[in-house]
Amino acid sequence: MPEEGSDRDRAGKKPIFVVHKHDATRLHYDLRLEVDGVLKSWSVPKGPSMNPKDKRLAVQTEDHPLEYADFEGVIPEGEYGAGTVMVWDIGTYENASRWEHRDVPMAEGLRHGRAKFILHGKKLKGKFVLTRFERGGDRTWLLIKMKDEHASSTYDPVRDEPDSALTGRSLEEIARSSAQK
Ligand code: MN
Repeated sequence: MPEEGSDRDRAGKKPIFVVHKHDATRLHYDLRLEVDGVLKSWSVPKGPSMNPKDKRLAVQTEDHPLEYADFEGVIPEGEYGAGTVMVWDIGTYENASRWEHRDVPMAEGLRHGRAKFILHGKKLKGKFVLTRFERGGDRTWLLIKMKDEHASSTYDPVRDEPDSALTGRSLEEIARSSAQK
């Protein structure tokens, strides 16, 4: 295990992020950020927005293993997370958390309920912030786009780019090809 707070992993490579589009009981988006060797995870019912005016609910879920990042396929009925999973966006990210002129490691920021990061995805780009609710339990967060050159009130990747960033497939195509196996 790398030491906490190093913001480095896998031989010093930039940490990865993934957004899984997950057609489970309800369609939702799972944001996952590599932190200290695992994928910290949040379920975002409406998916991420590029508009800084949108506050997207993000409910923290179980950490996932790094190997799960590029999983695309169908989780069978009866198993945790049953349903079709798409790699809706994937890329690397940079921690951008600074408090009082100090760089704050991701793990520390998350522990204190606030983390800023810059996504380098195929769809999601630029600065985002995750902020935990003071009340309402320690699993409830908001995901918000911060103002920068990538912020947009017109580009809505959830609406405009529904298919896989990895294979270009739709949820239906992923479900179909999995059923043929
Ligand atoms: Mn999910």
